[in-house]
Amino acid sequence: MVARISHRIDGKPWAGVAERAGDVFDPATGEVTGRVDFAASGEVDEAVSAAARAFQSWRNTSLAARARILFAFRQLLDEHRADLAAIVTAEHGKVLDDAAGEVGRAIENVEFACGIPALLKGGFSENASTRVDVYSIRQPLGVVGVISPFNFPAMVPLWFVPNAIACGNTVVLKPSEKDPSAANFIADLWARAGLPDGVLNVLHGDKVAVDGLLQHPGVRGISFVGSTPVARYVYETGTRNGKRVQALGGAKNHMVVLPDADLDLAADAAVSAGFGSAGERCMAISAVVAVGPVGDELVERIRTRMAKLRVGDGRRPGCEMGPLVTAAHRDRVTSYLDAGVDEGATLAVDGREHDIDGEPTGFWLGPTLFDHVRPDMSIYRDEIFGPVLSVVRAETYEQAVGLVNDNPYGNGTAIFTNDGGAARRFQNEIEVGMVGVNVPIPVPVGYYSFGGWKDSLFGDTHAYGPDGLHFYTRTKVVTSRWLDPSHGGVNLGFPRNE
Ligand code: NAD
Repeated sequence: MVARISHRIDGKPWAGVAERAGDVFDPATGEVTGRVDFAASGEVDEAVSAAARAFQSWRNTSLAARARILFAFRQLLDEHRADLAAIVTAEHGKVLDDAAGEVGRAIENVEFACGIPALLKGGFSENASTRVDVYSIRQPLGVVGVISPFNFPAMVPLWFVPNAIACGNTVVLKPSEKDPSAANFIADLWARAGLPDGVLNVLHGDKVAVDGLLQHPGVRGISFVGSTPVARYVYETGTRNGKRVQALGGAKNHMVVLPDADLDLAADAAVSAGFGSAGERCMAISAVVAVGPVGDELVERIRTRMAKLRVGDGRRPGCEMGPLVTAAHRDRVTSYLDAGVDEGATLAVDGREHDIDGEPTGFWLGPTLFDHVRPDMSIYRDEIFGPVLSVVRAETYEQAVGLVNDNPYGNGTAIFTNDGGAARRFQNEIEVGMVGVNVPIPVPVGYYSFGGWKDSLFGDTHAYGPDGLHFYTRTKVVTSRWLDPSHGGVNLGFPRNE
């Protein structure tokens, strides 16, 4: 059966008829399982209006009441981990265990936002001047848009929505059209947790929906996650239209392996971080930089591990890596295998030859390894976003750091070494937003913030954690004096704090 996947506006499934819709696939079978509505500008208006109507009352809802809803939502999300993971696997393709891990990281962000009464405390200075007090308050922006990518259909919306609503904003969430059902499931859980209608709306669609949000005068802020060209476009268009925008983009993450590293640990990490979620993670490792003499041995250990990976339908027990999200994406990723060979890289493991535990009609590509990759090759330059790992050889630590710093992206990176001094130097010198030391995917915990540098992020604020609160609030400073018998007199001078 092909399910209709419609917007959630004002707490209800949308009753209208969409002019356009898109197919949603089960990537493990290739079957169409859903038709998702694509919003036209009228529906963007409906969703923004619903959020605007809800705003006045929500921003004045007490912090205690907001926190209670957050706690209730956290409880429901925890109870429905497995249901949400199954929805993610059915439309994204990642294996169930990985999908459950995504939900677990999402819960961390809800837990952070549960502390909103303490987190929104401002500062207070008594007697900044005689009998004059100064204090700061943080107020919500209003209606904010959250636009998310396909690769984390549960976690990325929940990087933003909990903090946004905890701060008193109302939200229009535009999830990826490739795996839209997780957003609806999450919105229904929020409603069950007691979130008033209109505080969170889900608007499905493509560029039309995104452009509608970017142009809508009622939208005050935009949190975006996706590929770099679209992130740049969203940032430029949104800020031109007077909105506060944070736009997280693509990545090309390097893992530097120094000669003193534990090579088993490094090989495990390279395989886990290169092929987990079929490489469809913005923090996936796509380039391993082998420094000095370790290259041959490291490649051998990576190759041995790759041969044992079980690729197949993410619902089948034991499968470790699922299909790619669509046939078009699988074909694009596969085209890099020929490109790499044409450009002179060594195809050490060809993912097309890997055994698959799934329907042949699924969007499969097994794990692929290239060796002797050079920076001028397209397999090195482009974000492939699939299970393709490149090994680059560097003679020295300095060369390795130069490679990472010359790359236009700066999302995540990792160094593998047993030399604390080298690791410390690396974290100081490297021009990347998130750094792992013997940790291949250094996604910060929910009480820090997530974000890259350079072409991996447009805007000043990172996602979730303290930066999230900063993004979703405007500070106001109040200077007050309560009248006292000693007041009086006109004074045209500039206020002096004496
Ligand atoms: P994408 O850029 O194609 O789409 C992201 C969102 O933008 C979707 O909601 C989509 O509907 C919308 N969109 C697509 N094209 C658009 C256009 N031309 N104009 C306006 N809106 C448009 O990204 P994707 O393929 O869904 O996700 C994968 C990308 O996201 C990768 O590049 C990955 O690195 C990146 N990503 C980055 C992070 C991060 O934190 N930096 C996290 C996850 C994913």
